[in-house]
Amino acid sequence: MSKKHSMLILPGDGIGPEAMVEVKKVVAWLTANKGIEFDISEDEVGGAAYDKYGTSLADHTLEKAKEVDAVMFGAVGGPKWDGVEYSLRPEAGLLKLRKELNLFANLRPALCFEPLVDASSLKPELVSGLDIMILRELTGGVYFGEPRGIEELTNGQRRGVNTQVYETYEIHRIGHVAFDLARKRNGKVTSSEKANVMESGLLWREEMELIAKDYPDVEYENMLADNCGMQLVRAPKQFDVIVTDNLFGDMLSDVAAMLTGSLGMLPSASLGEKGKGALYEPVHGSAPDIAGQGKANPIATILSFAMALRYTYDEGDAADLIENAVNEVLANDIRTADINQPGMTLVSTSEMGSHIVDAMEKLSN
Ligand code: NAD
Repeated sequence: MSKKHSMLILPGDGIGPEAMVEVKKVVAWLTANKGIEFDISEDEVGGAAYDKYGTSLADHTLEKAKEVDAVMFGAVGGPKWDGVEYSLRPEAGLLKLRKELNLFANLRPALCFEPLVDASSLKPELVSGLDIMILRELTGGVYFGEPRGIEELTNGQRRGVNTQVYETYEIHRIGHVAFDLARKRNGKVTSSEKANVMESGLLWREEMELIAKDYPDVEYENMLADNCGMQLVRAPKQFDVIVTDNLFGDMLSDVAAMLTGSLGMLPSASLGEKGKGALYEPVHGSAPDIAGQGKANPIATILSFAMALRYTYDEGDAADLIENAVNEVLANDIRTADINQPGMTLVSTSEMGSHIVDAMEKLSN
């Protein structure tokens, strides 16, 4: 019998738990019908963990997260915890997880499902068939570089300082993730920086060019980050994998996300060194405005689980099946409120999950 895939489920707050119930339906179906077995543990994170343990990420939860193959994360936060001290707040639990698991590679796919081409702010022909991956370096760069701070100057002015800093090992490890991804996808890497005005950008470019030599089968190009932003909204289909630093990745991944429409559709993965640390989560937050009402779109969380199947569990066929099932359901005009349009069938969170499982069943026969 094949090994069970270990997974820690952290549903979190707000719509996180509702969406995670739908992931569990998909997991149960895969086990029953495809023999893919999981060793699942579950715990609290964020505000729910604060209420239970007095901290947004308990030590035993972190230990478990380090042991398992992958963490499935819902969302954290909400007005209930607005007054809580910064270091104990729900969001601090997620930041600590990312840091402690050393999740340096953030994968944000921008995949346009054909039935939703009209939801994009771009013309349908620009986004139809779109399938790109933004790979953002997550643990280095200007968000962490020293020195940093705000200082008072003797002339009465104040000075704000942040430092953009990258070392070769950081560029190499994210670079290899980019080229390995491109090999599994459409064989092209675009590396984006500002080598024309920043030394750290020049180093990034020189090192990426070195790494590219190890992957002669992958097409490689550099692109200045400002041009990359422009090209993403001009002709996004020219890209396959875009690899970039923490700051530019923060912006470019949000631009790419909006090419495909709704926040409720966007999955993500954050990966550490090979085989050590992986966290899968929807891009959206805990959406307190709709929590508990059956209005949440569970697709972003379900697609995050599909990414876990593809990138951690090596179950690419199951990942394809889930993505095809989502497409099938959308093609049948079944919609949660966030992606609904006149004339379509409005369904609840739970109904959307069940429709996806039904479509998996249908597509497997
Ligand atoms: P949000 O992503 O929670 O919601 C933004 C808007 O999008 C809301 O109107 C919401 O109803 C809608 N939305 C989001 N996901 C949806 C889904 N799956 N289906 C349907 N509609 C959806 O962002 P926010 O309102 O800025 O933040 C709410 C809370 O979430 C805050 O406490 C914030 O700190 C937290 N947050 C957490 C994460 C995370 O856990 N990774 C990320 C972002 C925000």
